[in-house]
Amino acid sequence: MSERPDLKNTLGRVLGPGAPEIGCDECFARLDEYVDVELAGGDADAAVPGLRAHLDGCPACREEHDSLRALLDTHR
Ligand SMILES: [Zn+2]
Repeated sequence: MSERPDLKNTLGRVLGPGAPEIGCDECFARLDEYVDVELAGGDADAAVPGLRAHLDGCPACREEHDSLRALLDTHR
């Protein structure tokens, strides 16, 4: 009986079904955010949807992720 606008459905259409694909630019832009959540023990995949999938398919960004993560981990 909700009359809320179907925001989720709208978003879902924008982002596409399942994991949205992001490019290297967005991946790079949000990588620190992703690693932050990851190191905090949070659900990084939910915080930055699509980034994990991108890392899986992009060795360059995965390497970037690994070194950023190692760097931040050392500074804790
Ligand atoms: Zn990439």
